[in-house]
Amino acid sequence: MRRPIIAGNWKMHCTIAEAVLLARELMERLASGVEPEVVIAPPYTALMAVKEAIAGSSIAMAAQNLHWESHGAFTGEVSASMLTDAGCSHVIIGHSERRTLFGETDTTVNRRVIAALAKGLTPIVCVGETLEQREAEATREVVLGQLDGALAGLDPDAVAQLVLAYEPVWAIGTGRTASPEQAQEVHAWIRGRLVETAGAFVAEGMRILYGGSVKPANVSELMHQRDLDGALVGGASLKADSFEQIVRFERMG
Ligand code: PEP
Repeated sequence: MRRPIIAGNWKMHCTIAEAVLLARELMERLASGVEPEVVIAPPYTALMAVKEAIAGSSIAMAAQNLHWESHGAFTGEVSASMLTDAGCSHVIIGHSERRTLFGETDTTVNRRVIAALAKGLTPIVCVGETLEQREAEATREVVLGQLDGALAGLDPDAVAQLVLAYEPVWAIGTGRTASPEQAQEVHAWIRGRLVETAGAFVAEGMRILYGGSVKPANVSELMHQRDLDGALVGGASLKADSFEQIVRFERMG
């Protein structure tokens, strides 16, 4: 049994005060204990304050990116050790907004993954196709290409430290969710490729999250699929009420 992860990506939202308020409210709502691992990813500026706010809870904290170098003349960048210093245990890498808006490539995703692992951070590595790629029936090739690129050079022990997220670009922030069957198909391709590249044991244990307009109304149906092991949630993670409902999704059937 893979323990599900529900991760909230707060993107470029929340002042420090707003982030602390949201984190505190979540902590109160989830205090009675929940089945999934819960991870929140506030913006950099709020990391330390949120870490303080969630101290003593089981909520983990992620950053939304990192740079692969440890320090130096890289204006505007943040390193893995800076993130662990601020209290992060996880880091989102290769989100489609980084890929499409900020020039992220499979090579830079791979560098970031290696840097994160070297400092004990758990990378949440995102892959996903655009609408054009899906319509051109290139989804499998694109997603598995991104996966291979992100994992290049990693041995199975290193791969086992990762969390993956399948996020079809056309479903992110659009209100348009992949159907459970569409998501399951891609998750099964990903797990199948992991069997080939990292072995059956690592593949079976890998948590593969789905992301793209996950809401309280659709989470249970999605999580019912065999190869979906949690969710990466954007918009619906910004309200404690809706994020709590997602975290408390009901197992169906
Ligand atoms: C995301 O940002 O990773 C995401 C899935 O966003 P949303 O839930 O808003 O589609």
